[in-house]
Amino acid sequence: MGRAARANRQLAVMFIDLDRFKNVNDTLGHHVGDELLKQVAGMLAACLREGDTLARLGGDEFIVLLEDVDGADGAGLVAQKLMRLFERPILVSDYELFVTASVGISLFPQDATDLNMLIRNADLAMYQAKARGRNGYQLYLPSMEGEGVERLRLEALLRRAIEKDEIGLAYQPQVEIDSGRLIGVEALVRWTSPELGQVPPSRFVALAEDIGFIGQLGDWVLEQACRQMVCWEEAGLSVPKMAVNLSGRQFDRGSVAPRVARVLADTGLAPWRLQLEVTESVIMNTGDALQYINDLHAIGVGLAIDDFGTGYSSLAYLKQLPVQTLKIDRSFIRDITGGANSDANDEAIAIAVIQLGKSMNLSVIAEGVETSEQAAFLLRHGCNQAQGYFYGKPVGADRVLEDWGQAPADERGYGTA
Ligand code: C2E
Ligand code: MG
Ligand code: MG
Repeated sequence: MGRAARANRQLAVMFIDLDRFKNVNDTLGHHVGDELLKQVAGMLAACLREGDTLARLGGDEFIVLLEDVDGADGAGLVAQKLMRLFERPILVSDYELFVTASVGISLFPQDATDLNMLIRNADLAMYQAKARGRNGYQLYLPSMEGEGVERLRLEALLRRAIEKDEIGLAYQPQVEIDSGRLIGVEALVRWTSPELGQVPPSRFVALAEDIGFIGQLGDWVLEQACRQMVCWEEAGLSVPKMAVNLSGRQFDRGSVAPRVARVLADTGLAPWRLQLEVTESVIMNTGDALQYINDLHAIGVGLAIDDFGTGYSSLAYLKQLPVQTLKIDRSFIRDITGGANSDANDEAIAIAVIQLGKSMNLSVIAEGVETSEQAAFLLRHGCNQAQGYFYGKPVGADRVLEDWGQAPADERGYGTA
């Protein structure tokens, strides 16, 4: 910086963070993650000029210092060049990995005149690039200050949300397609904040994981969901099964199974009426996931693999797991129309998952079913379970009782016959 100031030149600091690197680590193991980092480091180094500096900050974060850069435009060009490196798959121990990166850029002296601020501003810009959908670069702007502050505010509000009674659950029906019978509900967490309004789980579940709040949140959800089953029972509605989402971070805490067992004992819900949903990427974590899942199986709860088809799956590993259900990810259902414009690839994937489930003796449920055509398609190909707006949006507990408490299921008219 001293040199640049004397020579009246500009410097750029680029903060590079690989997108979803954790996914690679979790699903393929640390040795693959390490090898990927080495390759990325080599690619980045080869792309830079002599005199530029590349450093690894830790994890999947790299920093580049560009000396004598031609302002924002010059830095942008370098960033574009770096991004192009990620257009092709990277071959790591026989896996073809598609990796992208998010890049934040800050300039000296324009954006900061001391080192820490320069790096911090590049970091802030990188977060902005992630927030805008990843796989892109972003120059620092003073207006971003508010958003860093916004995240801190969101954190603080979230930490207090449970005690302030702002967290609730919505329940979405799961049905048998041919009979229209209710086979279960999925509990979906909701946060209604007086300050922020309705905050979707896509915005706060990951944040809760980041700030170590997911254990508390997950425990609350589990207990509330089990309690609700008993409440419905007392009101005359027997919901066969309650599905609850588990975050990978809840496994990190080590004692999932004992906690689930305690909640079941406290609420009196039979274990087989609880099904825990874990996403594919979490379940494929070769570390201790198998152990935790076996422990959960041992106390008698059901297990489903959520968002199936979107992660890296090892079928050999899957075979060892005491899982009963695959949930076909809704992205594969969305473009199935049953007509001529139906997405043939998605149809093929949905059919393949159904077949896979059959041959492995697993039940298969499709999520995101929005039309009768999709339901008919699934039924035709041997999948008789579905969840989606066609059958009902996630609603409050009272509404579930209203909708499903009175009429016998076979009078509801969802049957495709
Ligand atoms: P998920 O477990 O895959 O849940 C299904 C999501 O799909 C829900 O979004 C649901 O509202 C939405 N959905 C259901 N049917 C349809 C449909 O027909 N069309 C479309 N377009 N969407 C449909 P939601 O409630 O926003 O939850 C998003 C994700 O947040 C969940 O995905 C789950 O991964 C996570 N999540 C929700 N509640 C919890 C929780 O209590 N704990 C944890 N760890 N994660 C949760
Ligand atoms: Mg789910
Ligand atoms: Mg899902």
